[in-house]
Amino acid sequence: MRAIRRFTVRTLLPAELRDLDELAHNLRWSWHAPTRDLFAGIDPEAWASTHGDPVALLGALGPERLAELAADGAFVERVRAAAADLRHYLDDALWYQQRAASDEGSDSLPAAIAYFSPEFGITSVLPQYSGGLGILAGDHLKSASDLGVPIVGVGLLYGAGYFKQSLTRDGWQVETYPLLDPDGLPLTLLRDDDGTPARVSLALPGGRTLHAHVWVAAVGRVPLLLLDSNVPGNDEAARKVTDRLYGGGGEHRLQQELLLGVGGVRALRLWSRLTGAPEPEVYHTNEGHAGFLGVERIRELVEQGLTFDEALEAVRAATVFTTHTPVPAGIDRFGRDLVTQYFGGDMAVDGLPVERVLALGAEDYDGGDPTVFNMAVMGLRLGGRANGVSLLHGEVSRGMFEGLWPGFDAREVPITSVTNGVHSPTWVDPAFAALEADRLGLDELTADAASSGWLRGAGDGGVSDGELWAIRREMRGRLVDEARRRVRKSWRERGATPAELGWVDDVLSPDVLTIGFARRVPTYKRLTLMLRDPERLKALLLHPERPVQLVVAGKSHPADDQGKRLIQQLVRFTDDPEVRHRIVFLPNYDIAMAQSLYPGCDVWLNNPLRPLEASGTSGMKSALNGGLNLSILDGWWDEWFDGENGWAIPTADGVEDADRRDDLEAAALYDLVEQQVAPRFYDRDTDGVPGRWLEMVRHTLATLGPKVQATRMVGEYVTRLYAPAAAAGRTLAADGLAPARELAHWKESVRSGWSRVRVDHVDSSGIGEVPQVGDRLTVRAYVSLGDLRPEDVQVQVVHGRVSEADVIEEFTAEPLALAETYEAGRHAFAGDVVLDASGPFGYTVRVVPTHTGLPSVAELGLVANA
Ligand SMILES: *Cc1c(COP(=O)(O)O)cnc(C)c1O
Repeated sequence: MRAIRRFTVRTLLPAELRDLDELAHNLRWSWHAPTRDLFAGIDPEAWASTHGDPVALLGALGPERLAELAADGAFVERVRAAAADLRHYLDDALWYQQRAASDEGSDSLPAAIAYFSPEFGITSVLPQYSGGLGILAGDHLKSASDLGVPIVGVGLLYGAGYFKQSLTRDGWQVETYPLLDPDGLPLTLLRDDDGTPARVSLALPGGRTLHAHVWVAAVGRVPLLLLDSNVPGNDEAARKVTDRLYGGGGEHRLQQELLLGVGGVRALRLWSRLTGAPEPEVYHTNEGHAGFLGVERIRELVEQGLTFDEALEAVRAATVFTTHTPVPAGIDRFGRDLVTQYFGGDMAVDGLPVERVLALGAEDYDGGDPTVFNMAVMGLRLGGRANGVSLLHGEVSRGMFEGLWPGFDAREVPITSVTNGVHSPTWVDPAFAALEADRLGLDELTADAASSGWLRGAGDGGVSDGELWAIRREMRGRLVDEARRRVRKSWRERGATPAELGWVDDVLSPDVLTIGFARRVPTYKRLTLMLRDPERLKALLLHPERPVQLVVAGKSHPADDQGKRLIQQLVRFTDDPEVRHRIVFLPNYDIAMAQSLYPGCDVWLNNPLRPLEASGTSGMKSALNGGLNLSILDGWWDEWFDGENGWAIPTADGVEDADRRDDLEAAALYDLVEQQVAPRFYDRDTDGVPGRWLEMVRHTLATLGPKVQATRMVGEYVTRLYAPAAAAGRTLAADGLAPARELAHWKESVRSGWSRVRVDHVDSSGIGEVPQVGDRLTVRAYVSLGDLRPEDVQVQVVHGRVSEADVIEEFTAEPLALAETYEAGRHAFAGDVVLDASGPFGYTVRVVPTHTGLPSVAELGLVANA
């Protein structure tokens, strides 16, 4: 019989054990092994059957067991100590507080930062993520917590989260959506002062209203607010808005994003009102999905009497937008008609004309589609500061969005990059971390201390090759056990009887070179590249002296049949009795699986179509566990591959024919494995230790270890983006927002007067017939500014090395000074350029707008070139 309603009855803990509740509800346990050990020790069996979920574990304990534990003095003492440790973690002055107290940070660091994301991957217990974007958001919050950065996360609570993956007999992906009960999750409902659930509401077309409750997850020090529309007072359709992560398309998706953006800002206001937390000074949107947050903040300011343009300035200054994908399918686009239904007609708000909202997401550039509303484009228009997620992706993004800044070179497009990182306490194998901490003389491994200890020889307290190899084998062995368990479970689900599954005990070996490949399955990640030449792959797997084994996992988007066909193709290959002991596909890739997968693999394989992998992070997690990367030079690997930390698969980037490109890259992959990776792995000394391999492992840990940390990444966001955004936001908000009004009016006057700005004539002098390094070129430019004042513009000499086609390639722009003013808006500007390099040199002159409130010269997309 099916229940019509379900809820979870919470355990009432005896007074002596009350602290367990806080320890279970603060998700720090998900990256703090001692806290997990405390819970696991209560009842190892229940711990395993609840999949390591403290809240579920406490729920599973009967009153007798609880009474027994309450009477166990030693246990009660351990609980107290763990709670005291958690409180220290929550209250200590960390990096951010120390920086705020120093001269550097005292007047610029924001009091709070809001971080919006459609998904958050924190622990498999809270399945609110589908892949890299969500895991990155989770790692961002965890590292912010470790650094003391005052972030508030904002997201949605999906009733079913992302799907669970299983397989049919013939290898087709099946999705199931287990319903989550928020009362049984490590969440707390945000309540009003009178104890009723706090609620945010949004108007919907047709006179309907969408209500949502706000659940709060404690991610260490960081609160994460999750909006849930499955609440009383909503009609049936409104209840379903948060039913699934990336469930429907079109209008359902738009409603989710309105709830996330608009509802998210309202939830932040509630949060501050009810808890006294400071209002965010900076709003960071992780990809475009939450972009309506900017529209809501404009609405708030319009209500206070600002015009749309004035409000836009104030909002932009304090907004950071991170783009995550160069793949068009990864960007949300809605029909303009649909968006009009939500911001036009009866839904329109005074001062917020629907045309202005539509203009924010308009693809009004070459090649754009005039009928769509593009969330990434809106993100860039609302975000005064924007970034991609690796150096290469920054460059690709500047090219991709160049059309929004007409007249500027791609290089000047104001999109910078912050390379992703990963939260090492979450991703480093606990035994590996413990060994490392032990040799460093620490109680726990901190991100700061990452890795230096591994470099020291055995002689001074370091780790010997033998020890390092032994722990790597232990980690590989644990993966082998885990893979056998998962393969058996999967085959049972596919209809096999236990009697048919004897072979599963021989799947994989703890002594064979293990290559991992796990990720979502969009086409560009090329799950099946390894199958390009099945006979060659077989030969590698079955090599008599130097065999290789492959562990593969990944979910396809439920609507992506092509992805499911790739999975099926791979699964069918792994079903072949000839190779099934050397290659496995493990269904249901999630955080829990990932945590055993990365530590157990010797090599982490990634073969995307360059440059479509914006960053990628799984290879970083592998590196932190002593894995070596074998990857196409894309995303983060393009930046940090150094020849010693793994292998680069040569990319056939310029080859147009996709099939041929796959052939070439697959062949290069087989060659590398056969000729370099396997020989080095199996090159052993008399003790069976591969010395050269371990050199690469140590090198990886020592050099990549510190770079791939998410604390490094969050630190960069703070200093390069949040602090400047907070400063800009504060400047514009002073004096009742007078500077925001002034900036809006200034932009308006510059825009309307720009058509009359031009460079009339340029003179130069000072160099002889044979210019030499060190010579001074004097440039004098005559410009017309129409109604604009000389201080509204900067006249720049742009100079540098030129190509044969007279294109200035690497250029520097230097301002010229006002030299003379004539009548009718004409002026002369002059200055010197020192020739500081030999070779072909060229220069030109341009006029750009200038104002202290502009984060970049390209901000207005206005330029007058000579
Ligand atoms: C790290 C991780 C990802 C993202 O990996 P990419 O390398 O960015 O594809 C996806 N899913 C899980 C479960 C992860 O842990």
